[in-house]
Amino acid sequence: MCGIVGYIGKKDAQEVLLEGLKRLEYRGYDSSGIALMKDKEDLSEKKQFFLKVIKAVGKVMCLEEKLSKEKLSSHIGIAHTRWATHGKPSEKNAHPHQDDGGYVAIVHNGIIENYKELKEKLEKRGHTFVSETDSEVIAQCIGDKMKTKSFEEAFFLTLKELRGAYAVVAVSPSDPEKILAARFSSPLVLGVGKEEYILASDVSALVEYTDKVVYIEDNEAVLLTPQGYSLRTFSNRAKGERKIETLEWSSDQAKKEGFAHYMLKEIFQQPHALTDTMRGRILLEEGMVRLGGLSSVEKKLRNITKIVLVGCGTARCASLVGEYMIEEYAGISVEVEYAHEFRYKKSLLDKKTAVIVLSQSGETADTLASVREAKRKGVLTLGIVNVVGSTIARETDAGIYNHAGPEIAVASTKAFTSQLIVLALLTVYLGRQRGMSLVMGKRILREIQTLPRKIQSILDDAKKIKKVAEKYSAFESMFFLGRKYNYPVALEGSIKLKEISYIHAEGLATGELKHGPIAMIDKNFPSFFLALNDSVYEKSVTGIEEVKARSGKTIALVTKGDKKVSKMVDDVLEIPKTLEMLTPILSVIPLQLFSYYIASKRNLDVDKPRNLAKSVTVE
Ligand code: GLU
Repeated sequence: MCGIVGYIGKKDAQEVLLEGLKRLEYRGYDSSGIALMKDKEDLSEKKQFFLKVIKAVGKVMCLEEKLSKEKLSSHIGIAHTRWATHGKPSEKNAHPHQDDGGYVAIVHNGIIENYKELKEKLEKRGHTFVSETDSEVIAQCIGDKMKTKSFEEAFFLTLKELRGAYAVVAVSPSDPEKILAARFSSPLVLGVGKEEYILASDVSALVEYTDKVVYIEDNEAVLLTPQGYSLRTFSNRAKGERKIETLEWSSDQAKKEGFAHYMLKEIFQQPHALTDTMRGRILLEEGMVRLGGLSSVEKKLRNITKIVLVGCGTARCASLVGEYMIEEYAGISVEVEYAHEFRYKKSLLDKKTAVIVLSQSGETADTLASVREAKRKGVLTLGIVNVVGSTIARETDAGIYNHAGPEIAVASTKAFTSQLIVLALLTVYLGRQRGMSLVMGKRILREIQTLPRKIQSILDDAKKIKKVAEKYSAFESMFFLGRKYNYPVALEGSIKLKEISYIHAEGLATGELKHGPIAMIDKNFPSFFLALNDSVYEKSVTGIEEVKARSGKTIALVTKGDKKVSKMVDDVLEIPKTLEMLTPILSVIPLQLFSYYIASKRNLDVDKPRNLAKSVTVE
């Protein structure tokens, strides 16, 4: 999820690696670290190589400060900025990780799904783990094998044991002039300089040094020595030559991976981010989900009869979707509260209530205050949080991480959809503890697994969404309307448009139109309908008729194949079919793009909208 840099060449490795880490800082991270191969000339008679590993919590500057105290000349090394997924941000949990035999050091991006099994196995073999991360198993696994095998053999055998997503880079003092790296579902790119090579998780770390790159493919490894590089299969067979590409990106463009804004990049990251959210959690055959963060409260959750979902802004919209999901499929009564209201309200909470708070940053002040208030009342508190080790994650009794990766743009996109995935998984978890059948559990989970692919198909249609959006970029007001599961999506659509384009927008339950809001409608006041082919389709159609009768312009989001609504409205956008409870995860995507394209047409600072901050840490 975060940053990797590796260097082999004639320059001072420490300098190149630190510079690389600084260029990856924009991604957001919590700690960093470096492993340098001590150079031959510094060594005593014994000719033994060793690794110097230094780590620091906080900014790369803190690491730099530590390093300045013991400068080491070296030409080979690896470095990492960590964005914690397993284990809080701390020096012990920061990468590089080493095995207890001192054979190897590794840096890893991603999530090792089967780390618990591997860890147990290695502990039985006498290994001692020092971190809480999933990543340490990679180092221990390679180290364990290096007792009898070469660095290369051990590295490739280890790859065969790993499940999940990884970009991993390893160095070993037993084979000191070599870097081994592999990529599976997590990016890795090789910069090819003059007698030097830089590996990085994204090109922004290397554009300073070279514009020649080889993109490491998925399921591919690479072996680096000072003399050259070789692309390998996971069975360590040499692959053919690959074309070296020339980068045309500036360093700023590189950070955004070619996208004009972080928001757009994050919208397009969603298929990948959501795959990470569900990684290792779906047990399809059992129609069940594994939520490690809830294991300590599993029994308590069985007896819960009421849930209060608490959040602000986008997180509240996600909570409202959660309300529909949990009530319909888990049969538990749910209330949704704004965090800033909940904390001042006389809530009727009892021992059978769970308060579940949602916050991307895990630092939202009002949401945190709600956790403290609920705890004061002795109620079970759970957190759905993206940032590992954040205050809310620490203070709640248990929780589920989003694992969506750092979100940079102020307007939330992938954090929202990942909250929805977590809520859907939680619904199955709670449902299966109660009356939900195996068949229903399987059905929902199987459909959840198809969502990344379906989101990708919507993103592939972005041009069409852009065209429609630009037609509406000069209006001053707009309604977003939806029913049932898509009512909260209408609210979220209106937040998105307001916050980045400064167009006045209101989200409404479609049925509410004629109770007041319809008075606003005229030819200058367009309405965006979520009119999907679900249980409330016909009722949505009625709303469209009402607006049309008052000369209002209409846009509709429909299910692919829709004939009726498409003919009625001025503009139409489509999403693929899915289970009704999961439609919000698809229907919000065109709304995110719609707002984005309007704001960029209006030449606004999309990533940093006026008057707003990314995480609201004040009350
Ligand atoms: N899962 C690993 C950890 O928590 C790697 C996180 C990352 O990609 O930065 O340490």
